Amino acid sequence: MCGIVGAVAQRDVADILVEGLRRLEYRGYDSAGVAIINNDNELQRVRRLGKVQELADAVNNNPLSGGTGIAHTRWATHGVPSEENAHPHISSNNIAVVHNGIIENHQELKNLLIEQGYVFTSQTDTEVIAHLVDHLLKTEASLLAAVQKACKQFIGAYGTVIMDRRDPERLVVARSGSPLVIGYGLGENFLASDMMALLPVTRKFAFLEEGDVAEITRFEVNIFDKKGNAVERDATEAQVSHDAGDKGEYRHYMLKEIYEQPTAIRNTLENRIIDNQINTEAFAGDGVNADQILKDIDHVQIIACGTSYHSGMVARYWLEQYAGVSCNIEIASEFRYRKSFVPKNALLVTISQSGETADTLAALRLGKELGYASSLTICNVPGSSLVRESDMAFMTKAGAEIGVASTKAFTTQLVGLMMMTIAIGKNKGMTPELQQELVQSLMSLPAKIDEVLALAKDIEALAEDFADKHHSLFLGRGDQYPIAMEGALKLKEISYIHAEAYAAGELKHGPLALIDADMPVIVVAPNNDLIEKLKSNVEEVRARGGLMYVFADTDAKFASDDTMKVIQVPHCDEAIAPIVYTLPLQLLSYYVAIIKGTDVDQPRNLAKSVTVE
Ligand code: GLU
Repeated sequence: MCGIVGAVAQRDVADILVEGLRRLEYRGYDSAGVAIINNDNELQRVRRLGKVQELADAVNNNPLSGGTGIAHTRWATHGVPSEENAHPHISSNNIAVVHNGIIENHQELKNLLIEQGYVFTSQTDTEVIAHLVDHLLKTEASLLAAVQKACKQFIGAYGTVIMDRRDPERLVVARSGSPLVIGYGLGENFLASDMMALLPVTRKFAFLEEGDVAEITRFEVNIFDKKGNAVERDATEAQVSHDAGDKGEYRHYMLKEIYEQPTAIRNTLENRIIDNQINTEAFAGDGVNADQILKDIDHVQIIACGTSYHSGMVARYWLEQYAGVSCNIEIASEFRYRKSFVPKNALLVTISQSGETADTLAALRLGKELGYASSLTICNVPGSSLVRESDMAFMTKAGAEIGVASTKAFTTQLVGLMMMTIAIGKNKGMTPELQQELVQSLMSLPAKIDEVLALAKDIEALAEDFADKHHSLFLGRGDQYPIAMEGALKLKEISYIHAEAYAAGELKHGPLALIDADMPVIVVAPNNDLIEKLKSNVEEVRARGGLMYVFADTDAKFASDDTMKVIQVPHCDEAIAPIVYTLPLQLLSYYVAIIKGTDVDQPRNLAKSVTVE
């Protein structure tokens, strides 16, 4: 969450910083700000409430000159979104700070700093960083030393960048819990909370590690670990394309990303299936034998949050049904704060688009302490914390996902999880025929998804019915229950319609009381063993005057009538049905959000890459 960009260069950096923020806006969009040291060593700061565009307009009207600067787009945790609370925060007109995360002991530090005479002008936790560094600089010899000392006093998670107008060609950055990446240029250097921000200026990056503090000048980057020892962090060439952050011909990133799913899935499958077998190299990690680990495990514990949690829920059905391996799934923020039992030979699987999800990362670290036999992450961002800290990683090849509501990351996670199911199952008695069948199903996905995308017009027509609705119910059974949950999450995220999902068999245990003509009921109905049971649940809704929208297999024999609108979904293999049925629900939420007039890519109160707990 929150976008940070910094630069030390000879040229003016205002445009680079603002463009960087634009590229990171999905990480927070309450307010934005920039501070630059000009050629007279003065601090210039511009902050605006609202989107980066507001800041860009302000900077356009009042151009800022200078080669050293920091910028921020905020996702408020402490203090309302406002100009006073927007970053950068300044102390004594010398120090400017941007920060991602939460300083948990900010109240205690604030009290101490007030005693020292500091006056606070914002409600944020961040402002203590600025004043504490300023205070420490009275006794410390350098900005680096002051920041290192300040970091020892912070409790919580942060990625922070600090500059001092009296030392104008230097940025000091510190990472503890929130990611930061250094971008190397020629005679200029940069940093950001995500490399996407810096693709227009460099392709050479190094990730800071936990506890690192670094000083960045035009010609040097010096990195120190949490003990203060000078360290090197490997720099790598980014593989992502420069225009990965463009919307292209699409009205929204979300729509673009929905339509990218056939390609994203094709890329995720590429080179990972050899002679109808899953190539376990796809799960490889540094110095570990993925083949052996997957052979030895007897239990899988999945940990994730949000949309990724839903993909994990589907995987539980798959692992137990196809691989014959027991599986538990838990929300990361629950798992990390309770005592749990670690079964023998258990694999800990984390799932996260960004690889920086704070709760999931904390759960992985806890799981390693608890003694899981091994860890695997299903992740979309190479080099991210989850990838670096897990024994093994399966990289989804979804490409950059900018829309806050996840789409292609989810379906590629499911592809990865099905491949994991097959890779585990082959050592647990899954027949070669079943392995081959599942692999073939996966291979058929891109074409099948193209067929489903062709339903967009029909789904857009349905969306009109939701214009005046405030509540909705999503129903599914078996491995479609998590898909109903994901559909409900998507609808509430971007249309703000209250949506709940139920396993259809649960209706009679409570939610049936809600059914009336104002409560649309969305049903996912592939033609599987549960179809007759699901049809009974549909009748229960119909008998109570409910209005239904059914996404049904062509062979499932649902027909539209006064109480039910049916969208016929092309027949697909049972194993991949959760992936296929995700698509119409994504499109439905998208078109409902369009009718509601919401900000599809940046829905209120949310942000992507959830680096706060
Ligand atoms: N906790 C800080 C604030 O509320 C930083 C939030 C962020 O990560 O954007 O201002």
